[in-house]
Amino acid sequence: NNAETSQSKWSYFAQKDSDNSPSSIQLAIDLEQAIKNQGFELFHQPQIDLKTNKVCSSECLIRWNHPVLGAISPDIFISVAEDFGLMPSLTLWVIKTALSQQAELTEHTGLSHMVSINISGKDLIQANFINDVANLIDHGDIKAEKIIFELTESISFAQNNIAIQTIESLIELGITISIDDFGTGYSSLSQINQLPFQELKIDREFVENVCSDNKRKVIAETAVKMAKGLGLEVVAEGINSALDEETLRGFGCDIGQGYYYAKPMSVEHYLAWLKDLSNGQIPPSLEGEYL
Ligand code: C2E
Ligand code: MG
Ligand code: MG
Ligand code: MG
Repeated sequence: NNAETSQSKWSYFAQKDSDNSPSSIQLAIDLEQAIKNQGFELFHQPQIDLKTNKVCSSECLIRWNHPVLGAISPDIFISVAEDFGLMPSLTLWVIKTALSQQAELTEHTGLSHMVSINISGKDLIQANFINDVANLIDHGDIKAEKIIFELTESISFAQNNIAIQTIESLIELGITISIDDFGTGYSSLSQINQLPFQELKIDREFVENVCSDNKRKVIAETAVKMAKGLGLEVVAEGINSALDEETLRGFGCDIGQGYYYAKPMSVEHYLAWLKDLSNGQIPPSLEGEYL
């Protein structure tokens, strides 16, 4: 059985690994299967309000345990799903699951914090996206005002009129729009200038070890000041220590997320984690418990 597993693993990797290589086609076929068979799981990672030390949202992060290859990073399979047109159905599964898990979490804890969902730039140019989202909200138990869409993109949509219209319609529905990974890739000042949105997430490249790195300090502080000057909420992702947290708080950053508070967890684990808190409050002694 072991030999069989490594044989099939070998055949996955033996194929050429260039764009549109057989192995990404194979992954796309497996993804399609996983979409049909509900082969994914949603993990939750809390976001902490740095003024009150209370959990204010949880980011939903998809997990895929491939039957042969084991756990595959979403950074890899999301871009395959985008390339092979699988994003609409994958994203609808994510939103649907996130809303029903959030309703469950609220019911079991009495806490009704926000839920943050990652949306691909590809979703924004789908004709049915707004209708589908509106439908899911109509049929779910979570108000649009409790939902944040984090725009994580692999293409620039700042100059795409359809994408901008979709973002405007999402805001009209009551959803909060957040720009993810600010400072890297396509998440640039040009986007900030052209897109309507209410929250900015500073990429962890500028957050990890910010307390001891002067360059990161200057970049992170400038990003926070810029966001606050534009009237935005600012989230720092990748907080790994009390000193990093203190540094970001000092800059005026609103929200923190990172392994320092908790790693992404299954919904069962997250529920237990929330129940351990008193009224969603992170006590200093609990901070960093999951490191
Ligand atoms: P992201 O949206 O920027 O999510 C944050 C990533 O940073 C997550 O990786 C999270 O586990 C990781 N992270 C959080 N805190 C820390 C920390 O303190 N240190 C370090 N080293 N990492 C930290 P993950 O779950 O592997 O997801 C990677 C990316 O895949 C996400 O980046 C997002 O772009 C994409 N993604 C994940 N789930 C979904 C989804 O449901 N839909 C879409 N469209 N994209 C998703
Ligand atoms: Mg995100
Ligand atoms: Mg991010
Ligand atoms: Mg990212």
